[in-house]
Amino acid sequence: PRYEQERLTYEKIDTGPLIQLLMTRCILCYRCVYTADQLTPQRVHGVLGRGDASEIGTYIENSLDNEFIGNVIDVCPVGALTDKTFRFKQRVWFTKPVDAHRACPTEKCTGNVTLWYRGDEVLRVTGRKDAYGEVHEFICNKCRFEKKQTSDWIIEGPRQIARQSVIAQNHPELGIDWQEPTIIPNLPESTSSELNKHEIVGT
Ligand code: SF4
Repeated sequence: PRYEQERLTYEKIDTGPLIQLLMTRCILCYRCVYTADQLTPQRVHGVLGRGDASEIGTYIENSLDNEFIGNVIDVCPVGALTDKTFRFKQRVWFTKPVDAHRACPTEKCTGNVTLWYRGDEVLRVTGRKDAYGEVHEFICNKCRFEKKQTSDWIIEGPRQIARQSVIAQNHPELGIDWQEPTIIPNLPESTSSELNKHEIVGT
C-alpha cells in the first residue's frame, strides 16, 4: 500500500438518476455546498462532520429537486460530481465544444450553454465557463440533461479553448488563441472592465 493509514471509504450516496457523487475524489472544497446554498431559499446546506469524516452528500441530497441543482457538477473542480447522462460516453478531450443557446422557458435560466459533440451527437450540455474556469451563468436541469439534440439549440459556433486546456491538444482546428493570456469571449461586462483596468487583454 502507498499509505500507512487506511484508505478513506464512504457509504454509497444516492444522488438520483442525473448526478453522480464520488466521495473518494472529493477534496472538500465546499464549492458545491455554496452553490446548492445559493440555489435554495432556506439554509439546508453545510458540511457534515469535520476532517476526514466530512461529507457533503447529505446536503446535495436535500436539494436534488431544485431545477438548477445540475450546476453543482460544473463547479466541482475534481470530477467528484459528474453528469450521469454523460458518464463513460467519451473522454472530454475527444469531444468538440460548441456554444449554443435556446429560449429556455425556465425562469432565470439564460439558455446559454456549451454543447460537447462527438461527431453529430451532443454528448453533454454544460454551463459556459470564463477564462478562469468559473461558471459564467447557471443553466437549468432541463437544458443540461434533456436537450441533447442539435435541433433543440441555436448554434453560435465553436468555443474558443484556452491554450493550456487538455482539449486544445486534440483540436488545432478550434481556433485556439496562442497569445497569452487567453480570454474566453462573452465574459460578463463587470469582469471584462476589471481585466481592462489591469491591462489584461479583454474579449
Ligand atoms: S465541489 Fe466537488 S470537490 Fe468540492 S466539496 Fe463538492 S464534491 Fe467535493
